Amino acid sequence: MLFNAPIETLPLSKLRQLQNKRLRHQVAKVYEKVPFYRQKFDEIGLKPSDIKGVKDLHKLPFTKKSDLRDHYPFGLFAMPKEEIIRIHASSGTTGKPTIVGYSRNDIAIFTEVVARSLAAAGGEKGMTLQNAYGYGLFTGGLGLHYGAEKLGMTVVPVSGGMTDRQFLLMQDLQSDMICCTPSYAQTLAEELGKRGISKDFLHLKYAVLGAEPWAETIRQCVETGLGVSATNIYGLSEIIGPGVSQEDVEEKGTGSYVWEDHFFPEIVDKDTGEPLPEGEFGVLVFTTLTKEAMPLLRYWTNDITNIYYDHSEKRTHIKMGAIRGRSDDMLIIRGVNLFHTQIEDILKDIEALSANYQLIVSRTSAMDDVEVKVEIADTHKHLSEDGQQEVQGFFSKKIKENIGLSMKINILKTGDIPRSEGGKLSRIVDLRKIK
Ligand code: ADP
Repeated sequence: MLFNAPIETLPLSKLRQLQNKRLRHQVAKVYEKVPFYRQKFDEIGLKPSDIKGVKDLHKLPFTKKSDLRDHYPFGLFAMPKEEIIRIHASSGTTGKPTIVGYSRNDIAIFTEVVARSLAAAGGEKGMTLQNAYGYGLFTGGLGLHYGAEKLGMTVVPVSGGMTDRQFLLMQDLQSDMICCTPSYAQTLAEELGKRGISKDFLHLKYAVLGAEPWAETIRQCVETGLGVSATNIYGLSEIIGPGVSQEDVEEKGTGSYVWEDHFFPEIVDKDTGEPLPEGEFGVLVFTTLTKEAMPLLRYWTNDITNIYYDHSEKRTHIKMGAIRGRSDDMLIIRGVNLFHTQIEDILKDIEALSANYQLIVSRTSAMDDVEVKVEIADTHKHLSEDGQQEVQGFFSKKIKENIGLSMKINILKTGDIPRSEGGKLSRIVDLRKIK
C-alpha cells in the first residue's frame, strides 16, 4: 500500500526539481547557521550558490562520523536549543555516543517516512503492531512507534527482549505485525518452536526487520518460523533513524525504496570518494534535504551497497540493495574482502544447515584464519557423522568457489551459538582485535 501516493509516485523529473529546490535551500541554510560547514565551504572556495542541484553534490566535501564526534554534542546543530524537541543517540563503539537532535518538523518527517515504510511492508490502519525495537536513546523504538500511530495502527510498545512476554502479547492481542532486529526475529522463530507454540495460534502476518545486515537465509528462517512475510527497513540516527528506506512486501528481494524526497543517496568509491555509476557497489552517502535541527551534507554512512532505479510501476523512488556490511566491519582475510553476509548467502542453499552462524577470525603466525561456526538445521539434527562430513565438505567448497578463501567449518548442535536477546547481534568475533 502507498501511504503518500502523490510523493511516492512523483514522476522522476518532478522529483528532481523538488530535490534541487530543497538542496539549494538546505545548502544556503547550513552555510549560514553551522560554522563547521561555513568553514569547510570557505576552505575550498565554494559558495552556496555554486550548488544548483543534486548534480553539483560531488563538489561538496563529505561529512563523517568523526566530524560529529569532534563537535559533540551540539556543534552541528543548525537551530537553537529551544527549537529542539527530541534527542536520540547511537550507541557508538568508541567512547561517547553520537548525539542527534530533531525539530518539531523533523519529527513530523520521521513519522511520515516510517508511516510510508510500514504501509509498504503491509501495514494498514487498524492492524496491531508489536514494536519489539528498543525504546530509549536508540531511534528504533520511538521512530517506529510514531510512524505506526500516524498510519493508524494500534501500537504495542513492548520494546526488545522478554521473549515470554512477546509471545504472550502476540497471542492475546493478536498482533498482525512485529518489528525488531532480524537476529531477534530469528530468536523468536526458534523459541516459538521450543515452547511448542504452533504458529497457527499467532495472528502475525508481517515482520519489519532492520538495524543490522541480514540476508535471504534469515528471511526464510523468520518467514517459516513465524508464518510472516518479512521485509527490510533501513536507517541510521544521523540521517533520521529507521525509515530512510524500506522494501515493499510485494517486491521482496528487489531492494528497498529510498525516500529520496527527504534523503538523497549517492554511492561513492570507498577509497577515492568518487561517485560511482548506478548499480555499482560502494559506500552509501546521504544528504538530508529537509532536516532542520541537524542537516547533514554528504554523510558517509560507511554502509556498503548499491542503488538503482528498477522502474517498478508502484513507486518512482530509487532502490538500494541489501547492506553488505559496514566498511569498517569488512574483514580483510589474506587480502580478500569479506562480509559476513556473503557466508549467509551461501548458507541459504544448504538445507542441512541453519541460519545461526558466527565467524571467528584469528591469526596464527602471519596468517589470518576464519572459522565458520554454524548450527545444524533442526530438520537434520539426526544426520550421521558421515552425512555431516559431506555437508561440511560441500559448504567449504562453496565458500572457496564464491569467496576464494579456505575456511574451517565447524558444525554445531542447536543452541551452541549466541542468540540476540532483543538488540543487534555481532556475527563476527575478531580475536585479532582482542589482545
Ligand atoms: P547504532 O550506531 O547504535 O547501531 P544506528 O541505528 O544509528 O545506531 O545504526 C545505524 C546503522 O545500522 C546503519 O548505518 C547500518 O550499518 C545498520 N543498519 C540499519 N538498518 C539496517 C538494515 N536494514 N540492514 C543492514 N544494516 C542496517
